Amino acid sequence: MSNRVVEGRMVTPERLAELVEGEKPLEAESIEDADRECPECGGNVISVGYMPSVTEFVTAYKCQDCEWAETDRD
Ligand SMILES: [Zn+2]
Repeated sequence: MSNRVVEGRMVTPERLAELVEGEKPLEAESIEDADRECPECGGNVISVGYMPSVTEFVTAYKCQDCEWAETDRD
């Protein structure tokens, strides 16, 4: 597991994917540093790859400090 603090709360990869997706993923990979800054607040952005369904793989990006998030399907 690679739990990280997001918006003041410790989250698992599954929970991080759920925060961005709105639903629990089937599977989630480890949380990684995205090596980019949040466009909203300049905070650190982390990423997680997950499967929202058996036929789809999505990478989500989430700021650790604010509500900003996006996915690579946007
Ligand atoms: Zn931010």
